[in-house]
Amino acid sequence: MGKLKVTTENKCTLCEGSKCCSYLTQQVDTPRSKEDFHTLLWQIAHQGVEIYQDEDGWFLLISNRCQFIEKDGRCGIYEQRPTVCREHDNEWCEYDEPAEQHFKRHFTSYQQLLKYCKKRFKKWN
Ligand code: SF4
Ligand code: SF4
Repeated sequence: MGKLKVTTENKCTLCEGSKCCSYLTQQVDTPRSKEDFHTLLWQIAHQGVEIYQDEDGWFLLISNRCQFIEKDGRCGIYEQRPTVCREHDNEWCEYDEPAEQHFKRHFTSYQQLLKYCKKRFKKWN
């Protein structure tokens, strides 16, 4: 029996955990000062928060599943779903390639960001 061909029609039902509905991102101003980085440290100290920079700037990445994902992975409010969800194209998405591949910087923990701050600012403390 041949391998199931993944198409844009069946891709979302094959996508374990509905990847694109399991997090949210929020752009933040490009951090420059120590104070800016202290704010990011405060944010990343919280569970489920990561920070990345890509060609569009700096973002918080918050792992938190949308309340409307149904057991079979479908959207429970499909007809009324927010614009961001409507505009997300599954032609080439997180199913095909991890978003991380396009990150210039990616901090997954407070400790990683602190290490970066200490390198970036000669006098951090
Ligand atoms: S759009 Fe992509 S990441 Fe989102 S549920 Fe469908 S296959 Fe998964
Ligand atoms: S509203 Fe629907 S499409 Fe949007 S994140 Fe939630 S489950 Fe996914």
